[in-house]
Amino acid sequence: MAAALLGGPGPAQRRAVAKAITLLESTRADHRAQADALLTELLPHTGRSLRLGISGVPGVGKSTFIEALGLSLIAQGHRVAVLAVDPSSSLSGGSILGDKTRMERLSMDERAYIRPSPASGTLGGVAEKTREAMLVCEAAGHDIVIVETVGVGQSETAVAGMTDMYCLLQLPNAGDDLQAIKKGVMELADLVVINKADLDAAAATRAQAHITSSLRLHGWRGRSERVGRPDRPDRGDPAAPPADPHETTAWQPRVLRISALKAEGIDAFWQAVTDFHSQQQANGGFDDKRRHQSLAWMWDRIQAGLKQQFKSASAVREALADTTARVLDGQLAASTAARELLAIFSGDRSAPLRP
Ligand code: GDP
Repeated sequence: MAAALLGGPGPAQRRAVAKAITLLESTRADHRAQADALLTELLPHTGRSLRLGISGVPGVGKSTFIEALGLSLIAQGHRVAVLAVDPSSSLSGGSILGDKTRMERLSMDERAYIRPSPASGTLGGVAEKTREAMLVCEAAGHDIVIVETVGVGQSETAVAGMTDMYCLLQLPNAGDDLQAIKKGVMELADLVVINKADLDAAAATRAQAHITSSLRLHGWRGRSERVGRPDRPDRGDPAAPPADPHETTAWQPRVLRISALKAEGIDAFWQAVTDFHSQQQANGGFDDKRRHQSLAWMWDRIQAGLKQQFKSASAVREALADTTARVLDGQLAASTAARELLAIFSGDRSAPLRP
């Protein structure tokens, strides 16, 4: 499978990409082992793409925008992959990318690859599959990987954690952006895009000014702390090196107005993306962020794996009902209960480690 995948663009490669992603999404243990072997083989060929996260509430125009952007990028010689993170898709039957009529023109183009969200339930599980699918697409030579997500739940954080640049689509009315600010989503955004500017140019301009000033107030400080140098030592430590000069040149999020429907503002959008990319590469932030994301992801999956192992350990399962009841009745402090269960767990290593 790896040979066909790495063998250059064409129908054989397309089939190999689809097959590889299906393998990654399988829950069978033997498939998982094959998938892990494949990922290890592909890894040296991954990472050479720009990973772009795009989110926004349903109806904001994500697929219209991604199609317009994707068509423009392939016309410039890029190869685009579009993946989705939609943890609700297993319940709803797919609210993003499930509908085959979305991005019809883009999906018909050989230079693009579009894949709906895996429908495996938990956000962590869905995000894991998407992260791996991204590596497959990169190995197959897609140099732009777009990860789309709905603006609900925690999926924005998951997508911001797996992409180089995170863009938030907004409607030109004031209510939505305030909500996004409250939720802290705006703080994640490197770029805020006000779509449907064709419907009401004045409202879009007002929204742009409003969001720009809100970002100044709420976003930038937190962002540079978080995004600037994730691995740097604690400032409280007297042995820590002086403040990183890169942080003073941290990216300041931009707010743009576009019309996805009329394909207006797509070039300005792409210019902002390339500006961001060059700036982050020049100051080292790009590679730092990726390294940090990989490690954070490893720990996230360790945590998820341990939790699952904990819950399926037979001794824990035996004790859980009684301990839970005692916590609920106020007979046992929650922290004591946790310590007791962890002690039971560490005495019981019989539970199989699930992937
Ligand atoms: P998604 O749910 O975020 O993927 O949104 P869609 O791309 O499916 O768009 C939802 C609706 O908004 C569709 O009817 C689109 O035609 C429409 N739409 C998307 N972008 C624009 C735009 O820039 N201007 C106008 N007027 N309508 C748009």
